[in-house]
Amino acid sequence: MNTERNDAPPASNFIRNAIDEDNRSGKWGQRVETRFPPEPNGYLHIGHAKSICLNFGVARSYGGICHLRFDDTNPEKESVEYVDSIIDAVKWLGFEWKKDGNEHVYYASDYYDKLYEFAELLIQRGKAYVDSQSAEEMRVSRGSATEVGKPSPFRERSVEENLDLFRRMKAGEFKEGEHVLRAKIDMASPNFNMRDPVIYRIRFAHHYRTGDKWCVYPMYDYTHCISDALENITHSLCTLEFEDHRPLYDWILNELAEAGIFSRPLPQQIEFSRLNLTYAITSKRKLLQLVTEGHVDGWDDPRMPTIVGVRRRGFTPEAIQLFCERIGVTKVDSWIDMSVFEGALRDDLDDKAPRTAAVLDPVKLIIDNFPEGVTEECNAPVHPHHPEHGTRVFPISRELWIERDDYNETPPKGYFRLFPGNKVRLRYGYVIECTGADKDENGNVTAVHCNYFPDSKSGTEGANTYKVKGNIHWVSAAGACPAEVRIYDRLFKEPQPDAGGRDYLDALNPDSKRVVNAYLEPGARDALPEQRYQFERHGYFVADRLDSKPGKPVFNRIVSLRDSWGKPA
Ligand code: ATP
Ligand code: MG
Repeated sequence: MNTERNDAPPASNFIRNAIDEDNRSGKWGQRVETRFPPEPNGYLHIGHAKSICLNFGVARSYGGICHLRFDDTNPEKESVEYVDSIIDAVKWLGFEWKKDGNEHVYYASDYYDKLYEFAELLIQRGKAYVDSQSAEEMRVSRGSATEVGKPSPFRERSVEENLDLFRRMKAGEFKEGEHVLRAKIDMASPNFNMRDPVIYRIRFAHHYRTGDKWCVYPMYDYTHCISDALENITHSLCTLEFEDHRPLYDWILNELAEAGIFSRPLPQQIEFSRLNLTYAITSKRKLLQLVTEGHVDGWDDPRMPTIVGVRRRGFTPEAIQLFCERIGVTKVDSWIDMSVFEGALRDDLDDKAPRTAAVLDPVKLIIDNFPEGVTEECNAPVHPHHPEHGTRVFPISRELWIERDDYNETPPKGYFRLFPGNKVRLRYGYVIECTGADKDENGNVTAVHCNYFPDSKSGTEGANTYKVKGNIHWVSAAGACPAEVRIYDRLFKEPQPDAGGRDYLDALNPDSKRVVNAYLEPGARDALPEQRYQFERHGYFVADRLDSKPGKPVFNRIVSLRDSWGKPA
């Protein structure tokens, strides 16, 4: 497997080099105008984030602008729901789109009249014709990699006949599939995309914006380059699979420039590699299947690699931007390891997230020599490296919650936590000595017992006289905040779940979601939705943006503290 682990932000890349070169030559003056062109047929995923950060990021760093443009030419699959979710996602990632200082969204569907007019122009210039072959006939006559294509019997129709047919296509006189409009390029081209590609087809479909106005719709390749030119895009950045489409992109714009529609220079398409992320899937179609078949709880399930999913999981826009910077842009398709994505989150949150104690698998610890009914205060820094963030105050009392696996009656070698006779420090509290545990009839521990040393409190003079190897976190049973905590893990148990056409459903990780009833330090009780913490010794957690309420928090695990995937616990 080819994985990239590149932690240094790219000083430069081939896209920046191309822009620098244009700026030197003055090709566009110093103008840089890019666009992010999603089709509103699904929710954006982490792969789109790469394209967003690249397009908006490049524009921002050159003082240019980036358009948000909906490439909405497939009426059957598109909807306002998707448009809205895409707008939200791009905003949340930290970008904005302005025209003359005001927010402005572009839609390819706004260009339908122009696109149609230009198609008639191409017909008039002998550069497009109406083909009346069946789809199957067209497929066969296109030829193959080793065989040139055969011209359609309709290729030499007169301009008048073509115009008449095309207008009647638009008027709704024909059935779907009866005719298409094709660009007249070269049936012998080694590049399939140049063998007279279809540029218009008949579809009696309702469009979410243009309604039933149209029954002919332009194809993506025809629409995209024209939209770029109409919007004065300078650099049209797209993924590598469009490399073979670039000659068509250039051909269409060149023909329209020849016809006097566009002036030169014409927008330049530049391709970069798609993001493939291990243990994830970045295909809208497959993500849709996960949702519709109920393998996840929805588009925003915290295990989904959608932007709404990673947001709900607790990832920050800053972490996503950092991740995109780190992976950079290349011309070679490769797989990025999930640990790079998770690492960016840790690096972002380590410095920002307040610390708190959380016991995820609670068992009682009883300090037998601690006076009953008494609570004392303990202090800890909100952030160990930022004293300016202040201190947190929480109680200690006779009964505490600790992690079940912090006690072990028969400790393995190197185990420094609780076992009879051993001393540990209760983090930010006292040193205690374990005396044993109560068990039920099945031998399960129901409570651990200990005694504390009253002169050992952290922050007091006596603290230093005790040398212990173990240090465990805890929460006072009196005052603890009970909370549902959802422990999320990777959705797939294999790095490339859909490689080689395999059924990725077979690679679903059955343990990707576990819900536990935890006890949190009292201060976490009033967490606001989307507030993030480091739960000491556990990892980074976020108050769920939908289900968490101040007073009754629900937390999601974003990532564990260290990358331990695939390693024994
Ligand atoms: P579809 O199969 O529906 O076309 P798509 O993933 O190509 O899916 P678009 O809405 O067309 O979706 O994508 C918008 C932009 O995001 C395009 O410029 C596309 O190249 C880019 N993009 C999509 N997937 C990735 C990815 N995995 N990595 C980088 N860029 C991507
Ligand atoms: Mg696409």
